[in-house]
Amino acid sequence: MSRVAIVTGGTRGIGRAICETLKDQGLTVVANYAGNEEKARAFSEETGMPAYKWDVGDHEATLEGCRQVEREVGPIEVLVNNAGITRDGTLLKMTFDDWYDVMRINLGGCFNMAKAVFPGMKERGWGRIVNIGSINGQAGQYGQVNYAAAKSGIHGFTKALAQEGARFGITVNAIAPGYIDTDMVAAVPENVLEKIVARIPVGRLGHADEIARGVAFLASEEAGFVTGSTMSINGGQHMY
Ligand code: NDP
Repeated sequence: MSRVAIVTGGTRGIGRAICETLKDQGLTVVANYAGNEEKARAFSEETGMPAYKWDVGDHEATLEGCRQVEREVGPIEVLVNNAGITRDGTLLKMTFDDWYDVMRINLGGCFNMAKAVFPGMKERGWGRIVNIGSINGQAGQYGQVNYAAAKSGIHGFTKALAQEGARFGITVNAIAPGYIDTDMVAAVPENVLEKIVARIPVGRLGHADEIARGVAFLASEEAGFVTGSTMSINGGQHMY
């Protein structure tokens, strides 16, 4: 029987590409999403993969959602923490809710999901956790103290959990994407985006499937000696 993978925020953008790539690698894949029913329906109809709705920032809902997936599909052996939001603004304009929502979903979501699946992985002696960080968590970004803090936190979370998982056959790694052509980046004003692209040595935005291929490697059997690492996939924009 193939291994079960869950991808949070898997119904569109980078998450959808990750779901499709992992499915192509032979895994049984389920997506989670927050509430965009149209995208979730299109995802399931077009790919044949199920989509489960819950807010990864909600601890109880996440535990219950993962229990439901395990009852209906099987034990979760691969977790991809991909769900994320932006609430950009300079510190002077940022509200506490903007700060808190981003911390709760982007960073808290990783904790909640790991709490739900880590015990089972430990018991079975095998697991793969891949967390999607960001170039802006490595380098910082004007107008994103909330997002940069949460993504930077993901990189610390990854290294700490990798140490806890290592002797149970669980690897924990992160990917730090650069700018990828998804809905999230479509929200960036065009004049700002032009300046960003000018700073990318390869001269273009990345594609979601370029992130997905990195995830597929880190989730594979062959990557068992890779843990606590961050793979930057950013067109050379930030060499860390
Ligand atoms: P999108 O905005 O295109 O998609 C976000 C996905 O996350 C959606 O499926 C959304 O669900 C889901 N989601 C949002 N909030 C929650 C929540 N509370 N609970 C569960 N699911 C949620 O994002 P991208 O594909 O662009 O980004 C994916 C990840 O990659 C994010 O973590 C992002 O920070 C990171 N990243 C993206 C970069 C980029 O350039 N695009 C660069 C660096 C990092 P729904 O559809 O229901 O709203």
